Amino acid sequence: QLANDLGVKEIFSNQSFIKNALSGNEIPKGAQPIAQAYAGHQFGQFTMLGDGRAILLGEHVVDGKRFDIQLKGSGQTKFSRRGDGRATLSSMLREYLMSEALYHLGVPTTRSLAVVKTGNPVHREEIQDGAVLTRVAQSHIRVGTFEYARFFSPPEQLRPFTEYVIKRHYPALLDHEDYALELLKVVMDRQIDLLVHWMRVGFIHGVMNTDNMSIAGETIDYGPCAFMNTYHPNTVFSSIDRQARYAYSNQPRIAHWNLSVLANALLPLVDDDNEVAVTKVKVILNTFSEEFSKRYISMMCHKLGIANEEQEDKILVDNMLTILIEHKIDYTNFFVSLRKQTITDKSLLSDQRFTQWYKAWQIAHERAGDQKTGVELMDKNNPIVIPRNHLVEQALEKAVSGNLKEFEILLKNLSEPYAHQNEPQLVP
Ligand code: AMP
Ligand code: MG
Repeated sequence: QLANDLGVKEIFSNQSFIKNALSGNEIPKGAQPIAQAYAGHQFGQFTMLGDGRAILLGEHVVDGKRFDIQLKGSGQTKFSRRGDGRATLSSMLREYLMSEALYHLGVPTTRSLAVVKTGNPVHREEIQDGAVLTRVAQSHIRVGTFEYARFFSPPEQLRPFTEYVIKRHYPALLDHEDYALELLKVVMDRQIDLLVHWMRVGFIHGVMNTDNMSIAGETIDYGPCAFMNTYHPNTVFSSIDRQARYAYSNQPRIAHWNLSVLANALLPLVDDDNEVAVTKVKVILNTFSEEFSKRYISMMCHKLGIANEEQEDKILVDNMLTILIEHKIDYTNFFVSLRKQTITDKSLLSDQRFTQWYKAWQIAHERAGDQKTGVELMDKNNPIVIPRNHLVEQALEKAVSGNLKEFEILLKNLSEPYAHQNEPQLVP
């Protein structure tokens, strides 16, 4: 229907999701789409932004849960600055594929309802087909929206805006005396959860600017993101990230930095005395590193099939990562091979440190719970299938030339990333 109304040719849609998301809901007549204003720190620099190429159609309530429906690539808005407000077919199909992949991997994310071809050319380095992505999110409220409310809006608007956000996402906090602090705590909790998931599956977002950090804790705004193949903490894919600010292992630090930006925007609601407010938010922000490390180690132990990790397991994880770096081992495949006990890499097997590590791992694995629990943990936390960059690029290349078969096959494979009953496809 949407495609018809827009007069565009639908080329791909997620039918079952459309049905679920839109059943029983209608956009009220006369409702106007809006482009949201927000500010943001981009690569550390503060600027005024806003939806330059996206509009919100409205909200839908499904089973008591509220979703935003947004069009991305729909044309210029008042926030477009010098941009054309358009998106290329290739980049929108990419967001579709990557967001659906993360969803099936169990990582909190916005989702993609459809990509429609507009029939209009989009001028980039070369001329490309234009397309519009229909995106579904718990909301499009970002850290940057708080920066806007604090620094570009009349001061009296920060409180009602914050109350709206709490009501929408964390209603239980509203009765709390210190609700601004409580909001900071819960967003931090969600962000840590999200970051631990990204680290688990080897995801690199690529543009973790504050305008791309959702208050609901979903992965949002898929740009130059990618999954790491060979394990290395400094892995970067984005060509615009020249300083490697958003490298794989730098992501938690950046999330922490972004949370301090959120805290800064909330200060007037925390206490009338700025100094007191700063002291209070610092107490919360200072718990980030310890909390992140705790959950990160716990997650890594789950990847190794260790249910109740102990202090010394941190060393086991650290030693493993050092060995993976030195032998240039594929992150995803390593855990799959460990689970299947099919490690064949000659350089690994001939390294005494690895054989020693393997023994230590076996002892830890047996120590921590029964074998079955350990194996189940490994199966649940270690995907076999991730969107490998070369497969994604290949599928997109064919898709934009009109052949969607490969794209559809890839999408299907990505919808069952943990299917351990099948033989693993160890494609590096
Ligand atoms: P992003 O890096 O995708 O989060 O985008 C950063 C900012 O640039 C956001 O405010 C976008 O809305 C805006 N933007 C990105 N691409 C375009 C475009 N083609 N035209 C207008 N604005 C854009
Ligand atoms: Mg953005």
